[in-house]
Amino acid sequence: MSKLGLIVAIFVFTVSILKPVSSSANQLNSAPNDDVIAGIKALHRAPEKEMARLKTLLDENKSAAKRHEWLYLYALGKEKRGEYDEALSLAESSINDVYASSLMQQRAKLLKAKILSRKGEMQEAISLLNAVKQWSMNYGVIQLNIGVLMTLGAAFENIEESKLALDNYLSAYNLATQFKTQVPPSHIAGLIGTIYLQQSKFQEAKAYLNEAYEFAVEKKNTVNQSNVAEKLARTELGLSNFKTSARFFNLAIKIARKNDDTALLAKALLGKGEMWLAQDDTAEAINTARNLFKEASDLALTLESKTVYFESLIALSRLALSSGDKTRALEKVRLAEEVIANEKLGISHLETAYLKLSILEAFGNKQDTIDALKKYIELSKIITESLDKSRVQIIRTLYELDEIQAENSDLKAITQLQEEKLTLNQQRNFLLAVITGLFLLLSLLLFLLYIKRARYQRRLERLATTDALTRFYNRAKILELLNAKLETLENSANEFCIAMIDIDFFKSINDNYGHKMGDDALRLFSQTARQIFPDHVDMGRLGGEEFLFIFHKSTERQCVQLLDDFRKLLKPAACNQLSEEISLTFSAGLKEINSPHTTTACLEDADKALYEAKETGRDQTVIFKCL
Ligand code: GH3
Ligand code: MG
Ligand code: MG
Repeated sequence: MSKLGLIVAIFVFTVSILKPVSSSANQLNSAPNDDVIAGIKALHRAPEKEMARLKTLLDENKSAAKRHEWLYLYALGKEKRGEYDEALSLAESSINDVYASSLMQQRAKLLKAKILSRKGEMQEAISLLNAVKQWSMNYGVIQLNIGVLMTLGAAFENIEESKLALDNYLSAYNLATQFKTQVPPSHIAGLIGTIYLQQSKFQEAKAYLNEAYEFAVEKKNTVNQSNVAEKLARTELGLSNFKTSARFFNLAIKIARKNDDTALLAKALLGKGEMWLAQDDTAEAINTARNLFKEASDLALTLESKTVYFESLIALSRLALSSGDKTRALEKVRLAEEVIANEKLGISHLETAYLKLSILEAFGNKQDTIDALKKYIELSKIITESLDKSRVQIIRTLYELDEIQAENSDLKAITQLQEEKLTLNQQRNFLLAVITGLFLLLSLLLFLLYIKRARYQRRLERLATTDALTRFYNRAKILELLNAKLETLENSANEFCIAMIDIDFFKSINDNYGHKMGDDALRLFSQTARQIFPDHVDMGRLGGEEFLFIFHKSTERQCVQLLDDFRKLLKPAACNQLSEEISLTFSAGLKEINSPHTTTACLEDADKALYEAKETGRDQTVIFKCL
């Protein structure tokens, strides 16, 4: 079947095209080791258990091939616990392990950079991150690239460089959206929204925070949901949407109470108080705000981080000042001063000094007011100077960042090209699959049609060469066969026999039992003949109840024997199947042909022998003898 061969060839061709495409798709996503992913999940699920397991593994296998993976995971666990020094040396061991693959080395380097930035060693952290970033871009490992960008973002956030943090988070967000990696973009959206909120860009903050909020709800993560709700509440407050703001504050407060999350609860209560004041200046609003601030400051006092406590004290002090309670205002601002006394000089010091100055001015105490003013001016000078200094550093870092961004756009271009190639390949494969499918369908249809035609052809042929009643060859066919046989005889001198057969007294069957019985007798005759004569005997009906048999491979004697066997079977069959009174016999004239003859001569000779058989008593075979 050449058609089938073609189909197979097309299949092999299609598969060979598909193969390289799927392997290049793997390269693009280059997933890290399954064991490592499982380990990270286990650390998240049951940190204590996993850390114990890793420790045992590390203690018991000093030179296992997977040691660098355990070291990496153990370092990750230590970093999560805040044990940075130990985490750092573990990460370094993982990087330097002889079995570590390049990808694992880079992952360990990323972890090392994360730890360094947590320890405040920014310079080293950033240069390490740049190296990992370069590697991840060279090898197109998007996942790692996103990890670097997010770590850079966090590092910049740590040193309060929110603009730089934002740039990195946005790059990570774009990559995560474009490539659908393991990091959900919605997770990064929360970080981006938070920075926009800090920068008072409420419209931008709202979009990103909403995405993060919906993601938290979808994942049923109430901790994230309440945290984002509090930020959304502040965002809506910034946009003066008081109703929505109140709704989010209440939601955050409700979940925080349920989760015993004091830090968030204090923050949300403080925010809700600010919202009341912003919305209204009625006595009721002021009262509600005061109560909220009080509750927030009481709660925040117990927390390790004093930011919310400080902010509630300032809020309470301002409120007292505006309602004329100067003593209380001074008391609260002094408490606030104490809270930040040991902190690095910054905006909060300036804010406190200015508030204190306003309170003392309200008291009318001249000397104290002048002292406070002097202090405020001095502070503002120092802080402005230090801000200027850090600006120089920012400009330097920005310069570095420009370089990084240029590289980042290179990566984007490369990955976009890869993406386009992938899409093109996919389209090509799809088209090929469609064509192959259509081709297969067409071949199948053609094949079916071919079979049907062949069957129809065979049926036509059979109809044209067979006698309908006896299913023997018809006259034309049996004579054609005889002709053909005589032709081969001329070449090979291959002798054979023919028998001319006529049923005895057939007319009387028709006359006595009807035409139908006559037909049945003819059918019985042919069925019985088919049982007796071997395959090499061609049987044909010349007309009426006269037949011509061609014995291709039998001698005269064998033919006589076969015809006698036939008689013996036919008589009882007729008795059984037609009627007990019917004796179905036949006479036959046999002729052996061993020299070239014409068809007519052969038939005449056989007919002569048949005539003799009839004449000399019927129910017998007479062999033609040359006179
Ligand atoms: P004999 O022994 O001399 O051959 O006697 P016979 O009666 O057989 O004589 P003959 O061969 O002349 O008779 C042939 C008869 O066969 C004549 C015809 O009515 C009958 N016949 C021919 N073809 C058919 C057929 O297809 N069906 C039936 N039922 N009868 C047929
Ligand atoms: Mg006859
Ligand atoms: Mg007859």
